[in-house]
Amino acid sequence: MYLCYLDESGTSDIPGNTSHFILAGLAIPADRWKDCDNAIFNLKKKWSLIDTEIHTAWLLRPYIEQTKITDFEKLNYKQRKSAVDTYRKQELYRLQKIGKTTYHRIKKNFRKTNDYVHLTLNERRTVISEFTEIIQSWGFARLFAECIDKVHFDPTRTNVTVDEQAFEQVVSRFEHFLQIISKSESDIVMGMLIHDNNETLAKKLTNLMQTFHKKGTLWTRIKNIIETPLFVDSQLTCMVQAADVCSYSLRRYLENGEEGFFNNIFDRADRKDNKVVGVRHFARDDCDCMICKQD
Ligand SMILES: [Zn+2]
Repeated sequence: MYLCYLDESGTSDIPGNTSHFILAGLAIPADRWKDCDNAIFNLKKKWSLIDTEIHTAWLLRPYIEQTKITDFEKLNYKQRKSAVDTYRKQELYRLQKIGKTTYHRIKKNFRKTNDYVHLTLNERRTVISEFTEIIQSWGFARLFAECIDKVHFDPTRTNVTVDEQAFEQVVSRFEHFLQIISKSESDIVMGMLIHDNNETLAKKLTNLMQTFHKKGTLWTRIKNIIETPLFVDSQLTCMVQAADVCSYSLRRYLENGEEGFFNNIFDRADRKDNKVVGVRHFARDDCDCMICKQD
């Protein structure tokens, strides 16, 4: 049995504020789950992030107040947290007098990043780098992903929305993988999808999956994936955070050419005869990124 953890990066709205929408699925054999969970726990322990969700995009933002605190890097974790807390409290008092919109936006930023402020930006980058190295070391894991360049995406031609296409592609690729490995095993290898909880998406993906079970996807019949996706709280489920790291790394590579994190996680892309079959970049024909060059 394989568990495939799903997470998105970027917005599926057109145009939205990102050029790409990524849906990544990181699949691991169920009997390796404990090892994976332990590896992520140890990473979090090392960086004093226990009981904290690693949300890549929030973790990697520059926190302006850190640059305004004298010798921030020389302080210990406790002193850094205390200094940032004091700075942020003062900032919120100041903003309260200025206007509600900015106040609420900044307050949300502070809340989302509160658990990470004891780490400098360099240290936070190292956390994600080490996380991608851990994923890279999981030779048993397989990465599936649909990376949609929304400039290239024409909903009138495809007849589906960005997130529907992404979900259908990832489900089809995971199903293919399960069918292929089942041929070399004595028993059929089954799979299950696990997704970060999101009320709007939950209903939509459940309905889509029920349709796939009845009619198949555009590419394959569903024989090995069971159930509709299980929705879990990403704050409590480390493996969804691993999928978040993958989707983020794919988007940053495709939008900004950032290769470091991408090179690590791309090693886990499902391959057949040395060719990547698990990850697709839906883009213009002459794209020469590392994903398209594989074709
Ligand atoms: Zn490409």
